[in-house]
Amino acid sequence: MAVGLDKVKPEAITEDKHLVVQGMDISGHWNRMFEQRVSWDYDVDNLDRVTDLPGGESLAWCYGCAKCTAVCPVDIVGDYSPRKIHRKTQMGVDLFNSDDLWLCTTCMNCLRVCPKEVNMIQIMPAVREQAVLEGTTVPPELQKAFEDTAKHGNPLGQPQRKRADWTKKVGVPVSIMKDLGRPVDILWYVGSYPSYHPRGNDAACAAARIFNSLGVDFGILGVEEKDDGDSQRLAGEKGLFEMLAEQNIAAFSKYEFSRMVVTGPHEFNAFKNEYPKLGADFKVLHYTRFLVEHLDKLKPMLKKPINLKVTFHDPCYLGRHNGEYDAPRQLLRAIPGVELVEMGRCRENGYCCGGGGGGMWLDSFTKEHTTMRLSERRVREAAEYGADVLAVCCPFEVSRFEDAAKSTGNDELMVRDILELLDESMRG
Ligand code: SF4
Ligand code: SF4
Repeated sequence: MAVGLDKVKPEAITEDKHLVVQGMDISGHWNRMFEQRVSWDYDVDNLDRVTDLPGGESLAWCYGCAKCTAVCPVDIVGDYSPRKIHRKTQMGVDLFNSDDLWLCTTCMNCLRVCPKEVNMIQIMPAVREQAVLEGTTVPPELQKAFEDTAKHGNPLGQPQRKRADWTKKVGVPVSIMKDLGRPVDILWYVGSYPSYHPRGNDAACAAARIFNSLGVDFGILGVEEKDDGDSQRLAGEKGLFEMLAEQNIAAFSKYEFSRMVVTGPHEFNAFKNEYPKLGADFKVLHYTRFLVEHLDKLKPMLKKPINLKVTFHDPCYLGRHNGEYDAPRQLLRAIPGVELVEMGRCRENGYCCGGGGGGMWLDSFTKEHTTMRLSERRVREAAEYGADVLAVCCPFEVSRFEDAAKSTGNDELMVRDILELLDESMRG
């Protein structure tokens, strides 16, 4: 039978005040001995509640090797890892009502090294979903993002009718599928942040100009496009994800296109791995891979040198989740003048920006549990490597890192989407 933590025996300590062994004085704490460090009783009910959930099973498989702790980005700025979550839950902590429930960014670095395949990318969404269903208090900033997404179709709370307003400032034609009335080669899913956020707009405009220069036959959905919902799913709102997926799939199905190109890694993950489970059937590419396909044509257009030291931040949902590490680097290397430097934590061991798994909407909450934001840790790393530019290819990251550069006093570090760097080099 499970016994509460108050019944766990305290550790016994023995210590000789005066002790000399073979002429060596080891008095006091030098000879301190602890009784065997084990817990005699466990409250396994709370662990069982997690492992009984579909998706939660693997938390039981942890055998405490701590490989995950060394790579978890949250532990690097706080006190967190699958091993610690397993141990705490095993010792009676109720994960469903713990702040720990909201700290995992589902970055997948722990799963990469875990010999037992303890899968936080399934465990955390499963527990969060149940917690949301049971009415557990969701951090207010996350709750607001859920509500804005449900009401407006995007987590920024912007009106749906304004979703294509950014196209007015781009300077080249951007066709809306509804108006075009014909099949296209590429359906470009723009995404919420590129559609609404001012810095996201910059990347969207850059992409539109690049596509036009390359002669890509493309169209966008405009007001028919809704947020992909994947981050809301990972944060526990599976119902909201399913609703958005249904609406998006219906919109996609109205038009004929050969392939879809997406601006963001989260959308890429959603459309490649999650939407097919709901009946979607189309080929999707992240913009970096799509542009690499056009590199022969693109390269001669990159005329203006960008004589800067550039480092690249691997987005978790492009890299670890979907195995794309090379395309962004190929694009950066194609820009004349760019000196590409790698940070220590890169590629498979890339450091999370803190925006995944709902973290995008949990910055204030996370800050209360860590010594600094993950985005702040990352911009410090970029600055430590002497970079002038931190290059990204995820719409969550530009604003996150620009804020972090300011708050850590690294204002001179420029944060740019690869699209912006390509566009700048093309425009001369
Ligand atoms: S790496 Fe896996 S098995 Fe090892 S402590 Fe972490 S979760 Fe447990
Ligand atoms: S998925 Fe990432 S943030 Fe979550 S526990 Fe694993 S390493 Fe830490």
